[in-house]
Amino acid sequence: MVGAGLGGVACAVELASAGVPVRVVERAHAVGGRMASPRIEGRPVDLGAAYFTVRDPEFARVVDRWEGAGLARPWTSELAVLTDGQPSGAPGPMRWAAPRGLRSLVAALAEAVPMELEHEVERVGPGPAVDGEAADAVVLAMPDPQARRLLRDDASAVPLLEGREWRSVISVAAGWPRREWPAITAAFVNDHPVLALVADDGDRRGDGAPVLVAHTTSDLARRYDARPQEVVGPVVDALRDLLGVRSVPQWTRAHRWRYAAPVDAREAPFHLGSDGIALAGDGWGSSRVETAWRSGTLLGRALAHRARGEDPG
Ligand SMILES: Cc1cc2nc3c(=O)[nH]c(=O)nc-3n(C[C@H](O)[C@H](O)[C@H](O)COP(=O)(O)OP(=O)(O)OC[C@H]3O[C@@H](n4cnc5c(N)ncnc54)[C@H](O)[C@@H]3O)c2cc1C
Repeated sequence: MVGAGLGGVACAVELASAGVPVRVVERAHAVGGRMASPRIEGRPVDLGAAYFTVRDPEFARVVDRWEGAGLARPWTSELAVLTDGQPSGAPGPMRWAAPRGLRSLVAALAEAVPMELEHEVERVGPGPAVDGEAADAVVLAMPDPQARRLLRDDASAVPLLEGREWRSVISVAAGWPRREWPAITAAFVNDHPVLALVADDGDRRGDGAPVLVAHTTSDLARRYDARPQEVVGPVVDALRDLLGVRSVPQWTRAHRWRYAAPVDAREAPFHLGSDGIALAGDGWGSSRVETAWRSGTLLGRALAHRARGEDPG
């Protein structure tokens, strides 16, 4: 398994529970991928996914367990929409949040599987082999462009990974001296040159910390791709203007997500090639936390069938 985002970890959990030996390698120092919650100023801040929704009954049972363990909580079904600074309501499905950050959910699942962190895979070749080491099957659970880079041009999965556009986002977290903005849990920002979404991280986390996390538009993220720190100024100005905040933040942190989400959804939940190279993650479906879990879980099930010599379906 290459990649310890929710997709890769869910796949590994499914394989391990079917008794199939599995090994997960992740290049980062922690699991979670785009469900990233680094500690900033003493508390976790969700710099990737803002929240998650639950539709699939099987995923709902996983979320029940997270909730029972105090790791996840229903947050809000009312997000605001700000158009020209004017708020309107956007009732929708329940959005779930994690008091210790969304990464903690992936970390809880990952306890059940062997994990190697800070191990970057460079090449997945025929066999299949991971950096020259043979495996029965290899799963690339990551955005398409990251998976493409690992494969030779003649790998059968390559045509599936090319030509699909991915949106970029730069997330900016900002800590303020006090809460000076109107009570919004989170707001989609329409037709804005800088902002696409603003979330109140203290409300989301439940500790009330005066921390906002803003996601830029994809156009702006692409313009600042080579110098993401420089987007902080325009984002802070836009936040102050939009929310009427007079003070300036005490700290800020920017994170660039070059492949935040695919522009178009796919129908298939995963790819399992006859060469033993498989693809999973939120690129397989519509890009969401739940999609990543479902993709990984269904692929894990198919690989377990394959390991038992059954038709993977
Ligand atoms: C800014 C932003 C906002 C979002 N908002 C929401 C939201 O509000 N609600 C929602 O449901 N979803 C949201 N999402 C999407 C959600 O985060 C993803 O759908 C989900 O986390 C994808 O999980 P994944 O396992 O498919 O991929 P990832 O989480 O990207 O995991 C891939 C992993 O592979 C690792 N990796 C890559 N290359 C290598 C290599 N060569 N060797 C080893 N490891 C490697 C990466 O380090 C990473 O950990 C958002 C995403 C972003 C970026």
